[in-house]
Amino acid sequence: MEKIIQELVNTLTDDQFLEFYEKVKQQAELIKKQKRLNEIDQKFRSQGIKCPKCESYHCVKNGHNSEGKQKYLCKNCRASFGAFRNHFIYWSHLNYEQSNLLIQISLLGQSSKTISRFIKTTLKTAWYNRQKLMKSK
Ligand SMILES: [Zn+2]
Repeated sequence: MEKIIQELVNTLTDDQFLEFYEKVKQQAELIKKQKRLNEIDQKFRSQGIKCPKCESYHCVKNGHNSEGKQKYLCKNCRASFGAFRNHFIYWSHLNYEQSNLLIQISLLGQSSKTISRFIKTTLKTAWYNRQKLMKSK
């Protein structure tokens, strides 16, 4: 890698080299920025808190409302939101991955027994969440 770059650099004039260097630097900054954004996205995605307005996962805890319930702030669109009454993930007590699997398997018309095996919960939990999901549709 280093040898290839060295050979390439040797064929360039000083001006060409500077231009090349600036472009590489810009590209590197873009890649670094994208990597950071991906890391942030992954981190928030794993928490499964999604903004009801713009559907971004980049949401942070933002104090409590008068009833003592957790409030969240969306870092993407700055929306503030509280109880996710219609938000499946919130009331199901399943994590994000389990909820996704549950939705997919349920939509395939599978039984609670199959669901419980896939998302590794008890049959009762799977049945209960499947009922909730069906009602929310
Ligand atoms: Zn938002």
